[in-house]
Amino acid sequence: MTIHRNHLSDWDKSRPDVLIIGGGIIGTLTALALARDGVRVTVLERGELLRESSWAGAGILSPIYPWKYPDALSHLVNRSLALYPGLVADLEHASGVDPQRRVSGLMIPVFSVAGWERMAGAIPWSERFGWVVERLDAAAARRVEPCLSEQVVGALYWPEVAQIRNPRLARAAAGAARKAGVAFVEQAEVTGMDLSHGQVTAVHSSRGRFSSGRVLLAAGSWSGDLARNLGLDLPVSPVKGQILLIRTAPGTLTRIVKQDQAYLVPRADGRILVGATMEMAGFDRRTTLSALHFLSGALLSIAPSLADAEVERHWMGFRPGTPDGMPYLGAAPQVANLFVAAGHYRNGVVLAPATAEAMACILTGSKPPTDLSAFAVDRPQPEGRDGELGFPGPAAADARA
Ligand SMILES: Cc1cc2nc3c(=O)[nH]c(=O)nc-3n(C[C@H](O)[C@H](O)[C@H](O)COP(=O)(O)OP(=O)(O)OC[C@H]3O[C@@H](n4cnc5c(N)ncnc54)[C@H](O)[C@@H]3O)c2cc1C
Repeated sequence: MTIHRNHLSDWDKSRPDVLIIGGGIIGTLTALALARDGVRVTVLERGELLRESSWAGAGILSPIYPWKYPDALSHLVNRSLALYPGLVADLEHASGVDPQRRVSGLMIPVFSVAGWERMAGAIPWSERFGWVVERLDAAAARRVEPCLSEQVVGALYWPEVAQIRNPRLARAAAGAARKAGVAFVEQAEVTGMDLSHGQVTAVHSSRGRFSSGRVLLAAGSWSGDLARNLGLDLPVSPVKGQILLIRTAPGTLTRIVKQDQAYLVPRADGRILVGATMEMAGFDRRTTLSALHFLSGALLSIAPSLADAEVERHWMGFRPGTPDGMPYLGAAPQVANLFVAAGHYRNGVVLAPATAEAMACILTGSKPPTDLSAFAVDRPQPEGRDGELGFPGPAAADARA
């Protein structure tokens, strides 16, 4: 069935063509793509739009260790990266908010010979997927980033990796989607769904009952619990991440720097994000002293000269984790009109444009430009935790980037 273009004026938002559960970056950009295609979309958001993971994240437009993922994820990342510059210009034009996408490069310093061995796959992967990469010796690495530790023996450097400011991307996406005719209903917590003859017939929320031809579950870390209401096994669980924001002089650090324990994301004004813990702590929203201790230790091992930097803020968010680290994208099994775009884990911001494009195609009955079979909702999952890409293993349960 193909959804045909409709006039967007004056329609009943409780009966849209597509109802999206969850107003994070995935739900919002998918809604925008659909509305631009003439589809009537309502988004139900439990709290305020774009205030959960999509607000909290670091905004690195690359997986941290991209070469470790299956090729399917790399293809989706590359599709997103190709869409990003045009999307950002479009969002800014429509909303008046600049998401501040900035090419700042990504550097992974190496502290030992074993460190080089752990990165053996990085250069071949970069060549295969068209990412410019340079291998730097210790002197060259410190010439590029003078604040790096004396312990650094070299680095890999990807000069074309970019970053974005999440809260700005959020405001720009919400503004553009509203302008395109998306109806957002905030403070509308979805509490249940009626199922009849293999179809969702109604969605119940704290702001009333909604029905729609198609329903998209895009509720981030909460998607697993909502899916269980319908008898679906969707193993999405929160992986808590805490971040520190420190203040330094502009230019102190200019590249994103990643090390085993943490990453540093420098903003143009001198602020640096130090992230992030990986905690299997349920929906515990506290920021903790142990995370402060862990993140400051990791920061000092990368850049000891930043010891006197002022700590400006400390916050947390819930990554929608999956056992294999890959999102679920596509039709839900056994429920004909239910679709899923959830479980983006550590990569939801970099993957959002390609996810929105692909899901808008699926929801309107056309073929997505990227092969999504590796992201099937009913794919087999690894036994237990992947540890490397998926949920952190028990040893890393407290704090690890
Ligand atoms: C510390 C941290 C650092 C990160 N760094 C990066 C990075 O550098 N690069 C990157 O690409 N990604 C990063 N991520 C991951 C990225 O932020 C997420 O993958 C992405 O934001 C997920 O988007 P989402 O829309 O699926 O989820 P969310 O943004 O969490 O949105 C889900 C929405 O669903 C709503 N919802 C939940 N339940 C209901 C309900 N019952 N009814 C209605 N609405 C509901 C929620 O309120 C929420 O607004 C990071 C995440 C964290 C926490």
